[in-house]
Amino acid sequence: MRMADLEHKLKQDFNGELRFHEPMSEHTSLKIGGPVEVMAFPEDPLSLRNILFVANEEKIPLHVFGGGTNLLVSDKGIKGLAISLKAFGSIEAVHSRSSTVQVGSEGESGEQEVTLFVGSGVPLAKLINYAQKNGYAGLEALTGIPGLMGGAIYMNAGSFGTEMMDVIISVAIMSKEGHLIILEKDKLDFSYRKSGLPGDSLILSANICLTKDDPDQIRKRGSEYLTKKKATHPLGELSAGCVFMNPEGNYAGRLIEEAGCKGMKSGDVEVSMIHANYFINKGGASCSDFIHLMKTVTEKVRKHSGVILKPEICIAGEI
Ligand SMILES: Cc1cc2nc3c(=O)[nH]c(=O)nc-3n(C[C@H](O)[C@H](O)[C@H](O)COP(=O)(O)OP(=O)(O)OC[C@H]3O[C@@H](n4cnc5c(N)ncnc54)[C@H](O)[C@@H]3O)c2cc1C
Repeated sequence: MRMADLEHKLKQDFNGELRFHEPMSEHTSLKIGGPVEVMAFPEDPLSLRNILFVANEEKIPLHVFGGGTNLLVSDKGIKGLAISLKAFGSIEAVHSRSSTVQVGSEGESGEQEVTLFVGSGVPLAKLINYAQKNGYAGLEALTGIPGLMGGAIYMNAGSFGTEMMDVIISVAIMSKEGHLIILEKDKLDFSYRKSGLPGDSLILSANICLTKDDPDQIRKRGSEYLTKKKATHPLGELSAGCVFMNPEGNYAGRLIEEAGCKGMKSGDVEVSMIHANYFINKGGASCSDFIHLMKTVTEKVRKHSGVILKPEICIAGEI
């Protein structure tokens, strides 16, 4: 189908923005990645469903992304349609209850837990800030993790022993056929950096459960975690977070460091001197530089410790 005809079809009953040949490097924290054929920013579930119908009908490959903070995109770009749900940005307290007795509306004494409805486009940092201000505890250890709620759920993002799965009650998804499905936590298969969701489902929102606490105590804990994270992770540089998953009972960063890879380079990508499981774009890095360094590090670690590292970052497009 001609691009102009496709544009016309996609625009029918669609609220939101469409961009064509959009460079993915502008949507990833690594600042790497060629163009995607079409990028869509639907503003409501109906518009999302309508573009999914067109994608299905025309057999257009689908991709969904959030903040692009765990994403490595091919230099050749991505074929098909990339969907951003950043417009799905609401946070709402929907339910508040005591662990012993129901005591009425939110804010009254005796209430211990709150249920929040969080759209998949909410930046995790905004959610953590909202929770802190309102005295809702449970997310402090995730302070400093970039990206959006949908990505955090899909990746089961975690830090200092807390993972997204710890607070999830249910997740609302849209299947690629456009069906809206609510999955309770026991229907999800969360594990280390995995939500168990089908790869082609789009997370629209989640209900999460937090515990009421003193806002100052929450702020204090959050800033302690952030101080620890800043001391041990290169937060101010261009990265996609941890490149490899921690193998059972070990740390990928430690294995990479022990294999002598700290500071190793491929083109403009460097193994961080601060945290060896972070690869840094020093300015003009390409996806092929990054992949080359991943392969070299994997091989060095295998030779040194016998461990075969598995990628944590998501790779999109042909490499
Ligand atoms: C400096 C830095 C520090 C980091 N620290 C941590 C850390 O401590 N712990 C940690 O776990 N991670 C960390 N990360 C990695 C990353 O921030 C998290 O994995 C984050 O939750 C990814 O969210 P995102 O919105 O950026 O997802 P993206 O990178 O955009 O996408 C990641 C994956 O999720 C999928 N996805 C995104 N949105 C949706 C959706 N709405 N529906 C379905 N699938 C979706 C994408 O298809 C892709 O497969 C760090 C990254 C950086 C750059």
